[in-house]
Amino acid sequence: MTMDTTGTPPVERNDAAPPATDKGKNGLARTRNIGIIAHIDAGKTTVSERILYHTGRIHRLGEVHDGEATMDYMEEERLRGITITSAATTCEWRAHRLNLIDTPGHVDFTAEVERSLRVLDGAVGVFCAVSGVEAQSETVWRQANRYKVPRIAFVNKMDRVGADIRGALASMQKRLGAKTAPLLWPIGAESDFRGLIDLVDGDIVIFDPTSEDGEFSVQPMSDEYRQEYERHREALIESVANFDDNVLTKAIGGEPISPAELKVAIRAATVSGSVTPVICGAALKNKGVWQLLDAIVDYLPSPLEMPPVKGTDPKAKGPDSATAEIGRNPDPAEPLSALAFKTIADKNGDLTFVRVYSGTLAQGDMVFNPVRRQTERVGRLMRMHAANREPVEQIEAGDIGAVIGFKHTVTGDTLCDEDKPILLESMKFPATVISMAMAAKSRSDVEKMGRALSRLAKEDPTFRWHVDHETNETIVSGMGELHLDVIKNRLLREFQVEAVVGKPRVAYRQGLERAVTVEGRHVKQSGGRGQYGVVKMRFEPVPESMTVEFVDEVVGGTVPREYISSVRSGILDFAEKGARIKFPFVGLRVTLFDGSSHEVDSSEMAFYTAAQIAFRSAIEASGIFLLEPMMRFEVRVPEEFLGDVIGVLNSRRAEVRDMESAAGGRIVSGRIPLAETFNYTTVLRSQTQGRGTFSLEPSEYTRVPQSIAKAVFERLEKEKE
Ligand code: GDP
Repeated sequence: MTMDTTGTPPVERNDAAPPATDKGKNGLARTRNIGIIAHIDAGKTTVSERILYHTGRIHRLGEVHDGEATMDYMEEERLRGITITSAATTCEWRAHRLNLIDTPGHVDFTAEVERSLRVLDGAVGVFCAVSGVEAQSETVWRQANRYKVPRIAFVNKMDRVGADIRGALASMQKRLGAKTAPLLWPIGAESDFRGLIDLVDGDIVIFDPTSEDGEFSVQPMSDEYRQEYERHREALIESVANFDDNVLTKAIGGEPISPAELKVAIRAATVSGSVTPVICGAALKNKGVWQLLDAIVDYLPSPLEMPPVKGTDPKAKGPDSATAEIGRNPDPAEPLSALAFKTIADKNGDLTFVRVYSGTLAQGDMVFNPVRRQTERVGRLMRMHAANREPVEQIEAGDIGAVIGFKHTVTGDTLCDEDKPILLESMKFPATVISMAMAAKSRSDVEKMGRALSRLAKEDPTFRWHVDHETNETIVSGMGELHLDVIKNRLLREFQVEAVVGKPRVAYRQGLERAVTVEGRHVKQSGGRGQYGVVKMRFEPVPESMTVEFVDEVVGGTVPREYISSVRSGILDFAEKGARIKFPFVGLRVTLFDGSSHEVDSSEMAFYTAAQIAFRSAIEASGIFLLEPMMRFEVRVPEEFLGDVIGVLNSRRAEVRDMESAAGGRIVSGRIPLAETFNYTTVLRSQTQGRGTFSLEPSEYTRVPQSIAKAVFERLEKEKE
C-alpha cells in the first residue's frame, strides 16, 4: 500500500469488529475521545498536528517552531510554543470520529490535565526515544492510572541522534510501571530510521526516503527481518494472550494466530488498562503517524465501553442524599447528563466545551446546572475542527462539543435535565500555592483588569484573585510562577491591560499545635440592648487534613439552634482569614459542645463574635505552626556539574531522593520547599553553562521547621506594617 497524499484515510484492513450496538458511521462504537499526554518537548504538539494533517482536516503543515500549530490557537500558547489549555478538536479516521482533547504539557497546569482526563476515554502517551520518560510524564501517567484511562504509547523522535527503542521501553517499565507491548518494531534508528516491522499483520512498512509526507509501502515479511519479527511477535502474544481465551488456547497449543485474532486480545488487554501497546515513529518526519491512528481506532475504547457515569441527586434531601448514587448509561435516549470541562472567553460569548455522558444536548434546549442552580439555554452548538467550526444541531451521549451562550456555567459544572437531575462528581482542583500582588500600569485600566481577571478565573479554576481590603492590593494566586506569568501575558495580549507584578509569595497555611478546649465569651450588657454569646469549644488538630471541619455537639439547647450556623460561620471565616499573618488555618476539627445564651441580648452577631474570640483563645493556648507547599523537582544535569548542583540544592533545603543516570548525565529528583525555588532556574543555568534543566510540580504541604518558621513569621508581620 502506498500512502495517498491527499489525506484520504486508507481502505480498512482487518478492522477490529465494532461492537454490536454500532449505529453506523457516527455511532458511538465508532467514536474515540482521546487525549495526548506527554512531557513538554516530547512532541505532543507535533503529533497532534500530524494527526490532524493526515486525517485530512488541515492541508498545510504549521511547524511548531513557527508558532503555527493548529491546536495552539491561543495567542499565549503560540508565543511560548507550549500547550496550556484543553480544547477539543474533531477529525475522522477510517470512518471513526476522533475527538482529540488537548492536554497541557507543563505541570504548573496539572489541574488542566486532570480536567481533560475526566472527559476522555483513552490516551496516547508520547515519549521521546532519546530521553525516555521524564518527571512530568510520570505525574500525568499516575493521574491517568487514577482515572483508569486506557493508553497506548508513541515513542517519538526515532530519527534523532541517540534514539533507542529499548531504552525508551525500559524507562517506561521502570518509571511508570507500564507493561509495554510493542506492536511495531523499528527498522534502523536515528538518520537510518527507515521502516517498521508490523508485529500484528506480519508485514513490513518501508518509508519512502524521498517523501516529506512520510509515504510508505507495505511489503511482505522478508528473511532479513523474520527472526526479529518472530521474537517480538512472540513477546507480544505472551503479554496479551491472557486477555482472550481463543488466543490463549492457540498460544499454548502452538497454533498460528491470525492478525484479527491477535487484535481482539490486544484490544481487550488495552481497554482493561493492563497493557500499553507501543508504536514508534518520528512525528516530525510523518513516520508512524498512520500506524498510530490505526492503533487509536483498533485498540482504544469507544464511549460504549465506559462504565455508566455516576452522580448524585442534587434535589434529594435527608441524611443519605449525598450517598445515593445515580448511574447513567452512554445512551442518547437517557436523560441528559453532561460535564462542562473547559470554558473559553470568546468574542461571541463564552465557549463552553462539554462532554455529554447520557442523553442528547440540542440547540435551543433549556438545561439545568445543579451547581449554580440555574437554567441555561443552549444557544448554538459547535463541533471544533482544526481549521473551522462546524455548527451542529445536537451532541449525543459519548460525544464532545462546544456550546455558545451559557451565562452561568463554569468549568467543572454539571448540566442535566431539570426534571431528572444529576450532579456529576465535581473536578477537584488543588489549593493555590503561590500569589503575587498585581497592579494595572495605567490607572485607567484598573477596572478593565478586574474584569479580565474575573474572566480568566472563570476559565481556569486554579487561578484566583481578590482585592485585599486592608492594603487595597489586587492579589492573584495560582499553581506556580509560570502559571501567573502566563496570566500576566494573557492580560496584555487578550485584554490589552499592562500589569506589573510584585515578588512571588508562598501561600503558607497555619495549624494548631495541640488539642485545646476553650471558652469564647462576647458579653456586653450595659444599658440598652446588649450582646450575649458564650460558646465552649474543642479545637483538635487533624494531621494531613487541608480543611477545617465544624462539628455541632450541643445538647439541650445551651446554644439555641438558630445561632449554631453563626458559630460555624464565625469559625470558618476566621480560619479562612487567619490571624497574625493572613494565611488560612487547615487540619482542624472544631467542636461546639456547650455555651449559654440570653433571651433578649443574644443575636447571630454575638455568637459569630464569640466563636472568633474562642478561636483566638485556642491559638493562645495551643500555639501555631506554619505549613509550606513542597514541590517535587527534577533536575537534569551533565555529570560534571553534579556536585555543584547538589550543593546548591542542599542549601535550598531540598531533599534529594534519587540520582539516576540517564542519557547525557544525571537526573536528580526529590522535594524542595516552594519558597526556595524562586530564581533557581537562573542559578542552575549559570551553574551548568545553560545545560541543566529543571522542572517542578506541586506536591503536599509540610511543616516548616521551627527555626525557619520564626523568621518567616517575623518577615510576614513586618511586610504587613
Ligand atoms: P511538545 O512540547 O510536547 O508539544 O513538543 P513539540 O511538538 O513542540 O516538539 C518539541 C520539539 O521537538 C520541536 O522542536 C519539534 O520540531 C521536535 N520534534 C517533534 N517530533 C520530532 C521528531 O519526530 N523528530 C525530531 N527530530 N524532532 C521532533
